[in-house]
Amino acid sequence: MQSSENIDLKSLVRSIPDYPKRGIIFRDITSLIAHAEGFRQSIRDLAAPYEGKDIRKIVGIEARGFIFGGAMADFLGVGFVPIRKQGKLPGDVVSQDYSLEYGTDRIEMHADAIEAGEKVVLVDDLIATGGTAAAAIELLQDVGGIVEAAAFVIDLPDLGGAQLLRDRGVNVHTLIDFEGH
Ligand code: AMP
Repeated sequence: MQSSENIDLKSLVRSIPDYPKRGIIFRDITSLIAHAEGFRQSIRDLAAPYEGKDIRKIVGIEARGFIFGGAMADFLGVGFVPIRKQGKLPGDVVSQDYSLEYGTDRIEMHADAIEAGEKVVLVDDLIATGGTAAAAIELLQDVGGIVEAAAFVIDLPDLGGAQLLRDRGVNVHTLIDFEGH
């Protein structure tokens, strides 16, 4: 088996032009997570910096953040908290609206998922404009969570999301980046 040290994660991400609409290049992580050693390495690279940092929860954004976040939580031996689209969580929720290109969207988290003062790491597959992650961070901070970092497999730096989060004082950790949209 190939040593996990040598895997080029970027080469395992499939790029699909003009999806879901013309001009967007969709960065598809299903090809990465289907590759056993690539998936394992991505989890280790995302999670290892937080070993021994007193992280209490990994918080994943629906839906691809669940795939990476669940495995990161297992790696670190901590709990996992889902942030979901509106109307999916059965208990009492806290919610946050955020802007899309046209209109707004809403994300929700169970109100009792994070205790005030708990250190958490937020995770998603990709950061583009940063709108989704910024809303998730507001939600976490509103309930008293301490966001140690926001971690993403893929950064699209030209869209400015990672910089937006850094400008708000959040540590941003990404594994690979792609130019353009
Ligand atoms: P944003 O809020 O603009 O940072 O968008 C981030 C969310 O949209 C993430 O959950 C990504 O999965 C998804 N996303 C945005 N752009 C892309 C892209 N080019 N390829 C794949 N997923 C994307």
